[in-house]
Amino acid sequence: MNTKKKSAADDVNEARRLLKEAGLRSTPARISVLNALKRSSKPQTHAQLADELVPLGFDKATVFRNLTDLAEAELVIRTELGDHVWRFELRDPKHDRSSHPHFVCVDCGSVSCIDDMALPSPTVRRNLNIARISEVLVKGHCGTCDASKSTAP
Ligand SMILES: [Zn+2]
Ligand SMILES: [Zn+2]
Repeated sequence: MNTKKKSAADDVNEARRLLKEAGLRSTPARISVLNALKRSSKPQTHAQLADELVPLGFDKATVFRNLTDLAEAELVIRTELGDHVWRFELRDPKHDRSSHPHFVCVDCGSVSCIDDMALPSPTVRRNLNIARISEVLVKGHCGTCDASKSTAP
């Protein structure tokens, strides 16, 4: 038995707590969306989440509306990689996205932390009239996607 693995009931309680802290009502749809994002290792599109949640009885419009609510409450981060598709991921309160740049793969949406790249210095920020940097994104193709592309016909 794996004691490190949390039970589904713990996930539901955790989701309820997050929703309460964000001032949102706990609904089955919101809890399911949060838990689906929690289980996925990389950002999910609305279509991917719908594929997972529609069989559970939620319709696509409900999934989308709840994703939007969660993003507005900042429980979920919404990213668009230039392909006009929103990708959603759970915000990790322990992970300060504004403190270091991130690499995002424009093919699969996976995000990695780049810890050894400096953000613009205070002088540069002042000259560019930047009040606050919310995130620095470096876009490209990850090794996995690049490899699968080069073997494609
Ligand atoms: Zn990729
Ligand atoms: Zn990071």
